[in-house]
Amino acid sequence: MPSMSTSSQSPHFRKIQTFVTEYAPACLTQYESTRTGMRVVVVDQEGPTIHGSFALATEIHDDSGAPHTLEHLCFMGSKTYRYQSFLDKLATRGYSDTNAWTATDYTEYTLNSAGWEGFAQILPVYLEHIIVPTLTDSACYTEVHHVDGSGNDAGVVYSEMQAEQNEKDMLLFVNNKRMMYPEGVGFRYETFGMMDTLRDLTADRIREYHRQMYQPRNLCLVIVGAVNHPDLLHVLQDFEDTILEDIPKPDAFFQATMGGFCPGTAIEALISRDGRVSRGR
Ligand SMILES: [Zn+2]
Repeated sequence: MPSMSTSSQSPHFRKIQTFVTEYAPACLTQYESTRTGMRVVVVDQEGPTIHGSFALATEIHDDSGAPHTLEHLCFMGSKTYRYQSFLDKLATRGYSDTNAWTATDYTEYTLNSAGWEGFAQILPVYLEHIIVPTLTDSACYTEVHHVDGSGNDAGVVYSEMQAEQNEKDMLLFVNNKRMMYPEGVGFRYETFGMMDTLRDLTADRIREYHRQMYQPRNLCLVIVGAVNHPDLLHVLQDFEDTILEDIPKPDAFFQATMGGFCPGTAIEALISRDGRVSRGR
């Protein structure tokens, strides 16, 4: 088992806890950034691949589809790497792949790499796409919804919902949710958006949702494999240096849901994860 965890030191990341599991050959270590609140969980495990899951809590109390559209838009370019597909091309060259999905209560981005070096190279580029994406009007136009030259509704996310929304399983699923959960509970709503709400969803609304929810303090990185801890913390620290000007002040008020706090939501999440996720992008 890699034993680099004990020697890791970083002025901006503090180790919260570390322990070896009884049920699996793995050592878990949790870090937290003292500057931004970003959390990192490393699972040291022998093997040739590194798996990263970057998760944000993205509950929403409407059917606007902002969480799902944002998941798509983050791959369309970032502050430094402003072009679509850059991240995926980089990942391919680094023997890696990327994916993402939107659940009712979280959005998760994944990075799988053959070896630590490739993972460490791609990690800060990927995180910049998540924390500081370009979210341009044109990207929203093509990726979310527009009316094409023939007068038909179009757009990547819109088309996804067009294919599903009136299927019988989907109709039952949405009606079930409306009956089971009261207003103000995230599980009541359709995180992918509905066709009528996607037609009305604006780029500004998506950007507002991103600014509120996609903050480092609402982000947890889970990294599994033969991880080089000092290198990881070094990479994350350098990454944070580049985004401090772009994120809301870490001590500013933070609300983990859009549309009003409901104390029952966390409990609902514990007892009833409905497990509905997109099929990747
Ligand atoms: Zn999608």
